[in-house]
Amino acid sequence: MTLIQVENLTKVYGEKIALRNIDLKIDRGDYFAVVGPSGAGKTTFLRLLDLLDEPSSGRILFDGIDTACPEEERLALRRKIGMVFQQNVMLNASVYENLAYPLRIRGMRNKIDARVNETLQLVGLTGFERRRALTLSGGEMQRVSLAQALVFEPSVLLLDEPTANLDPRNVSIIERIVSEVNRNEGATVVMATHDIAQAENTASKVAILREGSLVEAGDVGQVFSKPSEFLATFAGLWNAYPGDAVLVEDGLAVVDLGDDIRIEAATRKKGKVTVFIRPEDILLSTSPIQSSARNILKGIVTEIFDLDQLVQLKVNVGKEFAVVITKKSFKHLKLNLESQVYLTFKASSIRVL
Ligand code: ADP
Repeated sequence: MTLIQVENLTKVYGEKIALRNIDLKIDRGDYFAVVGPSGAGKTTFLRLLDLLDEPSSGRILFDGIDTACPEEERLALRRKIGMVFQQNVMLNASVYENLAYPLRIRGMRNKIDARVNETLQLVGLTGFERRRALTLSGGEMQRVSLAQALVFEPSVLLLDEPTANLDPRNVSIIERIVSEVNRNEGATVVMATHDIAQAENTASKVAILREGSLVEAGDVGQVFSKPSEFLATFAGLWNAYPGDAVLVEDGLAVVDLGDDIRIEAATRKKGKVTVFIRPEDILLSTSPIQSSARNILKGIVTEIFDLDQLVQLKVNVGKEFAVVITKKSFKHLKLNLESQVYLTFKASSIRVL
């Protein structure tokens, strides 16, 4: 059943069209990922769903109610929505106070103690009540942000790149909590992410945004199984190649990308797959390096782009791979067009769809 209906939604900032004619339905209970590269319009979309900003044109219906309604009704709708922003928004006060506040403004004073306790337990921070929120570690703070959005039992949870700056352990903690809330409490989840593997692993439905336009939307399996449009969306941000995967041991496959290139990837998938390797995850050197990384490819530098502090190179190893290194290591390695180089990357840094 449709909970959020987005019709012809457009948002313009000055000259910039941040979102263009988006039509989308999100059902009650969906775990919906909004995927796209940086600048695609994900944050703009979530801020409109959170009723923080107003559309330039088009409309958003919540449960059939047009959200361009009088302020009082709009506020009542807003209070059913929990949002976790990219940047933590926290009071310089105790964790308890930070969780009590969203309950107070919703007139849920009599539930404060019980809900704060339950929510801290849910996010694994029991005992943190008296700690000052702003002195916590990054991972703990993000869990407090999530708790702030969950404490009043929202019917919709909006998450803007909730794990972007976290270490792998905290990423999996946050992902597990959000899945539990979606599954056990039936909260509808809408999560923006640039990480395609995260969308595939967590969400049931996905919308792909590129430069403010909706490229595709549907079930995760269905959208990710026809990668052509999808790959174009990420071209340049990831090295993306189709290939054939054969499992060589549990959790490790050899993927044949054609052109005599075979790479090892940490995955259980086999058969036709698409692999993604982020340029930042590739180590570049002028001689083969001693490393536990499974993949070492030899190639020739074919393009060099100056990106301020960083340098992006294209390296032909039979196929072209994009690699990003710091300007300092670029100078140190004395690279030129036609330089011979080695690309090294771990099996675990490869995303496989
Ligand atoms: P994403 O979250 O996918 O990285 P955003 O929604 O933040 O993308 O931004 C989409 C586009 O709109 C970008 O080009 C961005 O620069 C622009 N934009 C976003 N917010 C504003 C704003 N307040 N004023 C001007 N331009 C903005």
